[in-house]
Amino acid sequence: MRLPLYILLYLLVTSVTYSVTKRLELTLVDLKKINDESLVKKMMYMVHSLDNPKVDIRLSKRTHSLIIETEDPRLLSLITYRFKTELNIPPEALTTRQLPEVKVKNTYRLHKRSLGEFDITAYNSHESVNDYLDELSISYPDLVTTKIIGYTHQNRPIKILIINNKKSGAKPKVFIDGGQHAREWISPAVVTHMIHQLINGYYKEDDRLRSLVTKYEFHMLPILNPDGYVYSYSDHGIRLWRKNMNNVTTTNCTGVDLNRNWDFHWAGRGGSRDECSIVYQGQSAFSEKETKATSDYILSYQGQWHSYFSFHSFGQLILFPYSHTAIPNPDYEKHRSAAKSLAAGIKSVNNRRYTVGAVGMILYEASGSSESWAYSIGVPYSYTLELPDLFTFVVPTDVIEPTANELLQGLVEYFQLIEEEDPKVYKQLVANVTESLPTREDNYQTSDSLYSSERRNSQSIFLLLLLTTMWSIIYY
Ligand SMILES: [Zn+2]
Repeated sequence: MRLPLYILLYLLVTSVTYSVTKRLELTLVDLKKINDESLVKKMMYMVHSLDNPKVDIRLSKRTHSLIIETEDPRLLSLITYRFKTELNIPPEALTTRQLPEVKVKNTYRLHKRSLGEFDITAYNSHESVNDYLDELSISYPDLVTTKIIGYTHQNRPIKILIINNKKSGAKPKVFIDGGQHAREWISPAVVTHMIHQLINGYYKEDDRLRSLVTKYEFHMLPILNPDGYVYSYSDHGIRLWRKNMNNVTTTNCTGVDLNRNWDFHWAGRGGSRDECSIVYQGQSAFSEKETKATSDYILSYQGQWHSYFSFHSFGQLILFPYSHTAIPNPDYEKHRSAAKSLAAGIKSVNNRRYTVGAVGMILYEASGSSESWAYSIGVPYSYTLELPDLFTFVVPTDVIEPTANELLQGLVEYFQLIEEEDPKVYKQLVANVTESLPTREDNYQTSDSLYSSERRNSQSIFLLLLLTTMWSIIYY
């Protein structure tokens, strides 16, 4: 009896491994004290000129701060030194803090068939997430399907999960993606958790979630950038990697910023032609396999989408088009009103506050982003969400579940508001979806034409045989 127990214990211990992310450091600079725009630009230029993918620098208009994040404390010391010697910024103006350590759980394929092994409250590997999606489609075939919509540069599958309650007839579609940016781990984890909750809520007769699944069809892509995601947690990788892993550049630098590669005002402000930049926009719009596959999928149901959501981190923001300019889009008021209801729903759960606004107006210009492209092809409501935390990409796993709970309550209130304030949208989309479904007549015509072509084929084969026989007789 003892041996099997040891074997069991051994399997349990070795079946799960953890990658531990080093503690990160964050430096904040109070820009109000500096009050010199050219100096801020010089600081950003100096950090960018280090050309080190281990350092990230961002300007936060909302908190009036410059944020520098790195895994390597030596780099932070170097930056502090150069700020002082080259730009005359005293070290006292900089605040440094340690960020909490995060463990990533990697479950092996060994447990592919066992749902119990997938920890919905952890950061999981790309492979484990895909296995989990397939497991759901096997367990709930009436409600869930999965589809590979394309492959990455490193040949990883880009997998989408569709929650479609077929019994409730034609309904508008909702697209939710996560993980466009590799390092924003909270995003794929939250999309996956929401999938889990929507399915469970439906079967456990949670009225709120059951109503969502009855009225809308959810197309959910937890990891849009699998290569980058894998690189961000692999032993040889970089935790703060942002881009994909495309190596076609002319320099030694790798990767394209997928959220600058969508075909709407591509190569405008906020992207970069510099292949080494963390916001490199790619050689052309949709040059990247990940954005091409996802946009082709969305276009294949054009006219049927109600909402598009892209989950990023961080900052607790609900952002809508436009991203290439600070000029408001024609549906600005509608977008703002729906975003506010989403924010109110989120806040009602744990009192977490999200700020609402157009990308170009409250954040920065970011041409070639997905939410503005989705709006440009006719998706009436389109958003980028910056999930918690307020200050870092490295978020402890205990934030995953509350964030998913908050977002689902947010979506309940968001859809309710649009149903009340913009009822035509729902009706029009249902009509579009109904029109796209094959009718009985279409089915009949299809099978009839199939039959006709089959009959034509057999006639052709008969004629060919006859000719061959005659040919043989003549030339034998
Ligand atoms: Zn992002």
